[in-house]
Amino acid sequence: MKIIEPHIHMIARTTQDYERMARMHCVACCEPAFWAGYDRQSAEAFYDYFYHISEYEPTRAAQYLIQHYCWVCINPKEADDLKLSEEVVSFLPEFLDKKTCLGVGEIGLNKNTKNELKTFEMQVDLAVQRDELIWIHTPHLADKRKGTTMLLDCLKGRGDVNPERVCFDHTEEHTIRDILDAGYWASMTIYPMTKNSPPRVVDNIERYGVERLMVDASGDWGPSDPGTLHDAVFEMRRRGHSDDVVETVFYNNPCYFLGQNKKFKPEPTKAKDEAWGVCV
Ligand SMILES: [Zn+2]
Repeated sequence: MKIIEPHIHMIARTTQDYERMARMHCVACCEPAFWAGYDRQSAEAFYDYFYHISEYEPTRAAQYLIQHYCWVCINPKEADDLKLSEEVVSFLPEFLDKKTCLGVGEIGLNKNTKNELKTFEMQVDLAVQRDELIWIHTPHLADKRKGTTMLLDCLKGRGDVNPERVCFDHTEEHTIRDILDAGYWASMTIYPMTKNSPPRVVDNIERYGVERLMVDASGDWGPSDPGTLHDAVFEMRRRGHSDDVVETVFYNNPCYFLGQNKKFKPEPTKAKDEAWGVCV
């Protein structure tokens, strides 16, 4: 069975991680734009970063037969500076046109500030104008539920965003229901030490079902491990879930969501209705 990693920051990982992911039958991974472990000192630094994730990472991944896709944006951790945000947003279209760029992300909130929300809206405007997919980061630092509600209210108030083309990431037990009820996709990020663990993620799949739900590993600058995605696959199998259901969550669902952008190549193994008709 093949798997897809919907959210990983390969710029922070070694080539050995690509090798491990290939051994875990990962055929594609997606790299949303995020913080670099330090605050960037200029808009030009973002320009170089977008060049790296749209041009260099696909070639590094290809050596391990993994398709690498990216998303671009100014991330929530650096979005409080409105002038910097405007500068960065001005050159996003150039990168959104790249052949491996899937949309605008990961945008959202970090400390739930007014300016962060303004920058979020500015980037939703761009995504709507260009009919791009949107990948949303829900806060870790500030109140996750409050931040999620702020983002949901903001999108609802606009009325021009199609929920099927938006995924909220880093979701947890207390935020998934509102997101799914409003018609959006939700992804759960696994961390090796804090936050979501493989058993918690599988508990949520059992609680909420497989429809519009994805799982990703927290491959980034902090303590994180791309292998945790495979630990979640194993946890599902250990609990007796069928290969069909496991495949829906870890391969077909990313194909359904990401495949809304024609640049995304992997094909699902079955139709959405058939895959989602199975009870967990
Ligand atoms: Zn991220």
